[in-house]
Amino acid sequence: MDATNTQGAVTPRSESVPLRCWAEIDLAALERNLRLIRASLPAHIRYVAVVKADAYGHGLQQVAGRLMHAGADLFAVANITEAAQVRELGPGWPILVLGPLLPDEDRYVAEYDLAVTVSTEDEVSRFDAAGRAAGRPIPVHLKVDTGMGRLGVWHEEAPRMIRRIRGSAHLKLVGVFTHFASPDTDPQFTEEQRRRFLAALDACGPAGLPMGGLLVHADNSAGLETMHGRSPFNAVRIGLLQFGILPHPGSFLSQVRTEPVFSFHTRVGIVKRLPAGTTVSYGRTRTLGRASDVAVLCAGYGDGIPRSVSNRASVLIRGVRCPVLGRVTMDQTVVDTTDVPGVCCGDEAVIIGRQGSAEISVGEFSGWADTIPWETLCSVTKRVPRVYRTVLGT
Ligand SMILES: *Cc1c(COP(=O)(O)O)cnc(C)c1O
Repeated sequence: MDATNTQGAVTPRSESVPLRCWAEIDLAALERNLRLIRASLPAHIRYVAVVKADAYGHGLQQVAGRLMHAGADLFAVANITEAAQVRELGPGWPILVLGPLLPDEDRYVAEYDLAVTVSTEDEVSRFDAAGRAAGRPIPVHLKVDTGMGRLGVWHEEAPRMIRRIRGSAHLKLVGVFTHFASPDTDPQFTEEQRRRFLAALDACGPAGLPMGGLLVHADNSAGLETMHGRSPFNAVRIGLLQFGILPHPGSFLSQVRTEPVFSFHTRVGIVKRLPAGTTVSYGRTRTLGRASDVAVLCAGYGDGIPRSVSNRASVLIRGVRCPVLGRVTMDQTVVDTTDVPGVCCGDEAVIIGRQGSAEISVGEFSGWADTIPWETLCSVTKRVPRVYRTVLGT
């Protein structure tokens, strides 16, 4: 296709235009992370790779494809659309939909060969009907609410639900799981949730819940450390940790040397000098205390730098931290480069990631934004191209 349209105006072909704000996704690091996490777990533990929300903004198909290669056992997604994207990569991989389905989505379960999460009696009836219509049983994971207060059947009701599922001709119970409300901050309540979950399993009686072939899972990245020791748990659901981000420092997990997979980059649009006393950006929230060199970056909240990091974040230019001045705007962010010699138009600025020996982690950036790493990763917008690095180093 020609790059010039009939009016003679130039229509840039996006793939040939230099990048002004992009995310780099290191798939080789992702693969190393999975192998490291696996190696830190007992051999019988199944690895459920959580790839919801576009694999935490990293790109669902690229990430799931690499994790298939690296040895994930099962994929977990939030909804049918995400499940279909994983299914497109290959038949046979078990896929669990973690979120509730809407009634008009039920028929896709058999079509895409998915396992569903069940919390209510209504879902049992619906999925049983879907299995009957499809002519084969629907695999279900019963979710038990042990205190998260979101999805799942209340733990005291779980034994009855298990009997109901087991008694449904067109359902096949393949898993039982729960989800922790604050594994990273409240070990006592997490222990109480675990106790309720195990009590619910026990209440089914030895005949009620033969464990053979059943996946029993509770832990996400933050709860992982409790996988050690004797328990019926035989799977973990890993999201954040596989991307090289620790849910909380100082845990057993910090011994698992995962590396960051994601980094966030932009470039310097202009550099200029402003006199002392100038106010910078919308709302005039920042007054320069000295004559300053500033760089205007080609990225703003339209790319996923939240407004909440105004006057708080720093970026890396030429390996040096440069503080954000004033409010982040939709397409531009101003930073102070007074102490960095030689900054030029076109220079790369790292918003999250490494440059030289300096590093800004997703965790540090999330602190500036008053949020959590999960949200930071999900906030990088679709304007930002994801660039994949795929070579497996050592
Ligand atoms: C998102 C999610 C996970 C993964 O959590 P991480 O903390 O990112 O590891 C696990 N289980 C459920 C039910 C989830 O929704």
